[in-house]
Amino acid sequence: MAYDIDMIKKVYSQMAERVNTAREVVGKPLTLSEKILYSHLWEGNTTKGFTRGKDYVEFAPDRIACQDATAQMALLQFMQAGKKNVAVPTTVHCDHLIQAKLGAQFDLPSAKKSSDEVFDFLESVSNKYGIGFWKPGAGIIHQVVLENYAFPGGMMIGTDSHTVNAGGLGMVAIGVGGADAVDVMAGMAWELKFPKLIGVKLTGKLSGWTAPKDVILKVAGILTVKGGTGAIIEYFGEGAESMSATGKGTICNMGAEVGATTSTFGYDESMARYLRATNRADVAEAADAVKEHLTGDAEVYANPEQYFDQVIEINLSELKPHLNGPFTPDLATPISEMGQKAKEHDWPINVDWGLIGSCTNSSYEDLTRAASIARQAVEKKVKAKSDFGINPGSETIRFTAERDGLLQIFEDLDATIFTNACGPCIGQWDRSDRKDEEKNTIVHSFNRNFSKRADGNPNTHAFVGSPEMVAAIAISGRLDFDPTTDTLLNEDGEYVKLEEPTGLELPPKGFDVEDPGYLAPTEDGASVEVKVSTTSERLQLLEPFTPWDGENLMGAKLLIKAFGKCTTDHISMAGPWLRFRGHLDNISNNMLIGAVNAFNKKTNFVKNQITGEYDGVPNVQRAYKAAGVPTVVVGDHNYGEGSSREHAAMEPRHLGVKVVLVKSFARIHETNLKKQGMLGITFANESDYDLIQEDDTFNFTDLENFAPDRQLTIEIVHADGSNHTIKANHTYNQPQIEWYKEGSALNLIKKHNAA
Ligand code: SF4
Repeated sequence: MAYDIDMIKKVYSQMAERVNTAREVVGKPLTLSEKILYSHLWEGNTTKGFTRGKDYVEFAPDRIACQDATAQMALLQFMQAGKKNVAVPTTVHCDHLIQAKLGAQFDLPSAKKSSDEVFDFLESVSNKYGIGFWKPGAGIIHQVVLENYAFPGGMMIGTDSHTVNAGGLGMVAIGVGGADAVDVMAGMAWELKFPKLIGVKLTGKLSGWTAPKDVILKVAGILTVKGGTGAIIEYFGEGAESMSATGKGTICNMGAEVGATTSTFGYDESMARYLRATNRADVAEAADAVKEHLTGDAEVYANPEQYFDQVIEINLSELKPHLNGPFTPDLATPISEMGQKAKEHDWPINVDWGLIGSCTNSSYEDLTRAASIARQAVEKKVKAKSDFGINPGSETIRFTAERDGLLQIFEDLDATIFTNACGPCIGQWDRSDRKDEEKNTIVHSFNRNFSKRADGNPNTHAFVGSPEMVAAIAISGRLDFDPTTDTLLNEDGEYVKLEEPTGLELPPKGFDVEDPGYLAPTEDGASVEVKVSTTSERLQLLEPFTPWDGENLMGAKLLIKAFGKCTTDHISMAGPWLRFRGHLDNISNNMLIGAVNAFNKKTNFVKNQITGEYDGVPNVQRAYKAAGVPTVVVGDHNYGEGSSREHAAMEPRHLGVKVVLVKSFARIHETNLKKQGMLGITFANESDYDLIQEDDTFNFTDLENFAPDRQLTIEIVHADGSNHTIKANHTYNQPQIEWYKEGSALNLIKKHNAA
């Protein structure tokens, strides 16, 4: 479980020199993000400044974290790299594969039974390769990382898009695909386009019903789900310093919802307090010694417009509590306007469930603030109108919250305490109160609320809020309830008002836990056997993808023209499919089944151009593959937004899709396509999307000359014989073109290892 204090001290010992060199080379004061980036260059001290949003740069991350769903494929890939141990400290966390149904005491044993072969695989492969293993029930990856491993000024990558949560402790922590993690595990550099920088200046101080969650709900409303793409969001100002480290974590966590590369805050007293409270006084001490390098230069924050690409200012004293949703996390509505807006849009007013927890909001402070509302309901004799579900973020949080009587307060309102795991946040929720596709409303303190995300029902309207607001709304049972003004009728027939929430930043008696759920790897894993059954339906050893033949791609058929939003959930759905994350062929049966076909507006219903018949996307693609016909997927803006899962790139690759041609990509997905040896390109002229017809054939006539900064030419042949020639852009640099040539990045790693 031990964090690596020697590694942290090494990072800090290099920091002054690297930051000072970078400042000199760049010739201007530095933001915190730049300090962390420049002090983690693969090459060490920098010799040149990098252009934001343009230059690809190689970095040396300090840590890697993987969750159970993505770790399976990442570690299956790592096993192929032929290494003895992982090259940087790595942990695996079992949190995504545990379904929420009856409560932790039933759900955890049931998950252990149903996913035992996966947990056993992850435990044995971790043990073999020197990876720390967090057992099922130990907690959600990002909460466990914040409690144990995150440190100010560090750089981490994780195979989960909410890895960014560690920005709450001043890290640059970035969600990546498994393939990127495999590179770093294998001792290679990790490449990222040098991000743009968005500065968010926080003035004033939060008070009353307004919580750190409302900061990011507001930012999401301003930036939208695309506004942070390719950028690090750096928060600063007196308002930032007034918030707890875990509150900062909440804000950074949901930076993923605006597409940001990551978010971070400068080191301050709140972080030192959190480090000490989580038994890491030595890290706080080491950070104190280099603290001028763990925050942006004073000149940067005094004149942010000169140093950031975009600046947003939020006065926390004036910020109102919000609810964001439904169906998208950037639809921000101040709670005072929700009643009117819900009426206008016909959103169901009655709230069925209030869910508190997830990696976004399950700190001690969150639970105490929500509990302060729940306690009032009990004391004022108000019965909760909605069901309550709580997902503690870790066993440490759960144990401490139980010891301090917080969980009992929720149980007094008949709440179900689910396992310390993701549960409803990732669709792992066996919800018994609503079946089929009934229209209904839930509120939660999670981060994502895409259609079907929590319970698989496309008509569940999910709204995101702070834990205390979720508690108040769940108690009232109404979406239009504004606790700042409205009253509730209690069991004695009296109208009562909920007072403003109160909370404690950290447990006065300290954190405590009996069994945190950690297994350290053995010193020498050479004799540890990793078992994967050949008949398993959940795990499958990988075969390398075939290299490019160096020829132009001719006669490719359109598989699907995706209409509108196409997230990684649409490309590789979660929920019931999570069980196949370690079996590429089986999980490929969910490929693009959530994407809307632009020609009939249906999901999973596309034309097979060979037979003229319509069928599900995976079936049609398997038919093309069997016939040796290459295919193209066409998409809209921000294609692949959402999670970091590389399955969304591996599945089309495995089934024989050759090209994904879209208006624009979400960053992680674009990189994942490149890693898997796919051609991920964008329309040079966005309106060319409209030219694509259902029976189209594509000829890539100058692929042979594939080179950085060189457009590709595509001839589109329509069914009537007419055609259009269009141009496509791409962002492949030379090393990425090598991945394409070799068939995948992993093929290239293996080649280097063998050399
Ligand atoms: Fe788990 Fe939800 Fe956090 Fe993802 S966002 S790690 S699914 S709790």
